[in-house]
Amino acid sequence: MTDLKKRILVTGGAGFLGSHLCERLLADGHDVLAVDNYFTGQRDNISHLMGNPHFEIMRHDITFPLYVEVDEIYNLACPASPVRYQFDPVQTTKVNVLGAVNMLGLAKRLKAKVFQASTSEVYGDPTVHPQTEDYRGSVNTIGPRACYDEGKRCAETLFFDYFRQHQLRIKVVRIFNTYGPRMHPNDGRVVSNFIVQALRGENITIFGDGMQTRAFCYVDDLIEGFVRMMATQDDVTGPINLGNPVELPMIHLAERIVELTGTKSRLINHPLPVDDPMQRCPDISKARDTLGWQPIVQLDEGLSRTIAYFDHQLAAGFFNT
Ligand code: NAD
Ligand code: UDP
Ligand code: UDP
Repeated sequence: MTDLKKRILVTGGAGFLGSHLCERLLADGHDVLAVDNYFTGQRDNISHLMGNPHFEIMRHDITFPLYVEVDEIYNLACPASPVRYQFDPVQTTKVNVLGAVNMLGLAKRLKAKVFQASTSEVYGDPTVHPQTEDYRGSVNTIGPRACYDEGKRCAETLFFDYFRQHQLRIKVVRIFNTYGPRMHPNDGRVVSNFIVQALRGENITIFGDGMQTRAFCYVDDLIEGFVRMMATQDDVTGPINLGNPVELPMIHLAERIVELTGTKSRLINHPLPVDDPMQRCPDISKARDTLGWQPIVQLDEGLSRTIAYFDHQLAAGFFNT
């Protein structure tokens, strides 16, 4: 319980990260308003919070203006998996750009602190490794990932222009691959794909040769980083990388999941998607220094918790539709 109770808006509150954030903020004693259009989020992710008098969910698309009264805003609304954000790429750019303008306009009117869930995708297919915040990135502006990458880059620009022009209190974090319970089983991200395939005994789909790398952060660690970032002094704007700097090739991730599930699934190769970054790993020195933050959940532990979640959902028939 914090000494100061706040009214906090979470956009994308019915999504994977948003639902965990809402849970955490309620546990800290705040009033939470979640806003979501259910494009990739699900009511099931927050159904356990519905009876809480300090929690409210509103169906709304943030590309349209929003007039509510809150003290802080976490802007998470945006599909995060490549499959989902490429499904309607124009809407992806809109949610990032128009959504950011609306949330910044709201924050400006309310003089509220506003947090942006940016992404390691702003670094594109990076030529600097591991990625530090001052690396400016290598993004293909006209490729299939650009709607997301450039949308998030423009959102960062808007945040820093509102900071300079309107003295807004902004908090920008660049999130690296994060996983855990409540990822959508069909959204195509690698951890959920591999786990669901393993639990169903289906082939595990390695894109390319599987030597491309990522670094995976467990959701609870990330949410701790969010809350610490929001609590910083006004001169801390970010951008700050949040992620777990333990890098591994996708083939090794598949092998860990095969071992932890005990599946008989085989690994098969599919073509590598266009512009798929070959390596990615955060340098989290800034988060360590500024927030006193670093991930504590090891990969096997986080994967085991995520496997237990998907196992339960599959057994209960939640994913049959
Ligand atoms: P998610 O797809 O589970 O959640 C996104 C939520 O936003 C969903 O509930 C969706 O319905 C909602 N949404 C989408 N468009 C909307 C709109 N126009 N108006 C209102 N709501 C809308 O994804 P996530 O993993 O929870 O990601 C949350 C945020 O974190 C995103 O902004 C994403 O870009 C960012 N991020 C996530 C990761 C990760 O690894 N999970 C990495 C980098 C950045
Ligand atoms: N806005 C909103 N809620 C508010 C205030 C503003 O959704 O409480 C939106 C509104 O659509 C506006 C945008 O935020 O167009 C940007 O607001 P800002 O005040 O920066 O600019 P302006 O109103 O001059 O366009
Ligand atoms: N990937 C894979 N098999 C899958 C899904 C993804 O090998 O079934 C790879 C993908 O090509 C990428 C990595 O896993 O190199 C991470 O993909 P994800 O979509 O989770 O996130 P990204 O970091 O690419 O946004």
